[in-house]
Amino acid sequence: MFSFLSDFFQKKSIDCFAPVPLEACRVIRPYLLEREQIAHGTVIMLAIPYFSKACTEANRNVSAYAVSRDYHVFFNELFHELLPLLHQAFPTNRFAGFADHSPIAEVEAAAAAGLGVIGKNQLLLTEKYSSYVFLGELITDADIPCQAKEIAHCSNCGACIRHCPMERLGTCLSALTQKKGSLTEAETKGILSYGSAWGCDICQEVCPYTERALQCGTIYSPIPYFSEDTLPTVSLETLSRMTDEEFACRAYAWRGRAVIQRNLHLLEMQNDLKGEALCCD
Ligand code: SF4
Ligand code: SF4
Repeated sequence: MFSFLSDFFQKKSIDCFAPVPLEACRVIRPYLLEREQIAHGTVIMLAIPYFSKACTEANRNVSAYAVSRDYHVFFNELFHELLPLLHQAFPTNRFAGFADHSPIAEVEAAAAAGLGVIGKNQLLLTEKYSSYVFLGELITDADIPCQAKEIAHCSNCGACIRHCPMERLGTCLSALTQKKGSLTEAETKGILSYGSAWGCDICQEVCPYTERALQCGTIYSPIPYFSEDTLPTVSLETLSRMTDEEFACRAYAWRGRAVIQRNLHLLEMQNDLKGEALCCD
């Protein structure tokens, strides 16, 4: 079964996956496993790299993970294709695919599968792609021979903590850009100081794993989905031109149009003021 999966993933340019016994994973949403009638078996952890050349654009104003279309769409399409093939090839086994809303603690499971180490920033750090990976998993009741690895942690260099603006802002900047409703003055200043309309990448950017992956050139995703239909710079105008269907495929859609529109409005107002100041000089 594992060679069947390896062939399938290879065809999809997916090269960061490994099995781990389900028993070795921390179950956080047992009802999802009950729904799938899977009580034991194997988890095939997937770390899907998403960093593309578009993420290096100087004017990017959304987090790197939001540059391509939403990764939930990617996983839905992947499992939609894979699950029928598995049911056909292994009719006596059960299979289920998850990403994000998962029955297990995904970062721990990926580390136990040997895909990387757990960073102080709470992200999985892989050798090739650093933390620029989306985690997902296929869970089956089949026992694929494998052993859980001892969970390893990063070097604890502290760069992600030193550079994080969270203490100054009182909250994570990424969470702030996703906050619904009105912002306090301090929150507004926080968004304006970083210049991101959606998300924050600081704790990923300063990590030596990222530096290394960038220097070696391994950081770029080989998966076409993440280089297609990229939108590194979002503006009120591009947003207004998006149909509801197009908008629904973007990572920022889950908070509705109003939240990213508010952030863009703040940033564009700030740019206008800067432009006026330059004209007056
Ligand atoms: S995303 Fe930004 S604000 Fe949030 S923990 Fe990382 S560096 Fe800090
Ligand atoms: S910046 Fe340093 S401490 Fe933070 S996750 Fe990376 S290696 Fe670990």
